[in-house]
Amino acid sequence: MIGILAVQGGVQEHERTLDRLGVPHRQVRRIEHLEGLSGIILPGGESTTMSKLLELGGMLHPLCDALASGLPAYGTCAGMILLASEILDTRPDAHSLDAIDMTVRRNAFGRQVDSFEADLDVAGIPAPVTAVFIRAPWVERVGDQVEVLARVPSGPAAGAIVAVRQGRCMATSFHPEVTENTSVHQLFLQMVAEAGYVHHLPEQEVTAQRV
Ligand code: GLN
Repeated sequence: MIGILAVQGGVQEHERTLDRLGVPHRQVRRIEHLEGLSGIILPGGESTTMSKLLELGGMLHPLCDALASGLPAYGTCAGMILLASEILDTRPDAHSLDAIDMTVRRNAFGRQVDSFEADLDVAGIPAPVTAVFIRAPWVERVGDQVEVLARVPSGPAAGAIVAVRQGRCMATSFHPEVTENTSVHQLFLQMVAEAGYVHHLPEQEVTAQRV
């Protein structure tokens, strides 16, 4: 069972991609929706709004704890921003989940190139991936544990890091879920299968839900 964080943003596109792959999924809006998950997708959208809604819903810490316990995660765009340890050009009250040791800059490609496509070589995927970028972040720093999976191949942003992996967490600046290509999701599902993890909420959170 794969969860898709559904507090805000492009949830349906990921649902469609998982449907196409025949993978069961569930929207994650409340703490109890984390129970029994083997992986979670954090979609694109607006990262500061997602951060606020996670905070208001009491989800920030349970989600951080789930990731720290080993729940595999895949973040696209705003989801990538949420997974970062450090965010540049954000609001001072925005939170991140601190799951990947990286510094991410929001809206990094600038207004002129709000949205664009590029064919990318992604490590672990045999054929190039058509990557759709929408007000996308890029990664400005990665820690020693982080594997860079893709960089922008050419143009003014050539060399910018746009796909990474650290352990069981993966993130892309771009949106494979808006294309027909399922290969990036398949790469994530392979990580999920290798991890063989099933998340169980700590007893105090289960109890807190009952009262
Ligand atoms: N610019 C958005 C943010 O900062 C991300 C855009 C997206 O997810 N397509 O959260």
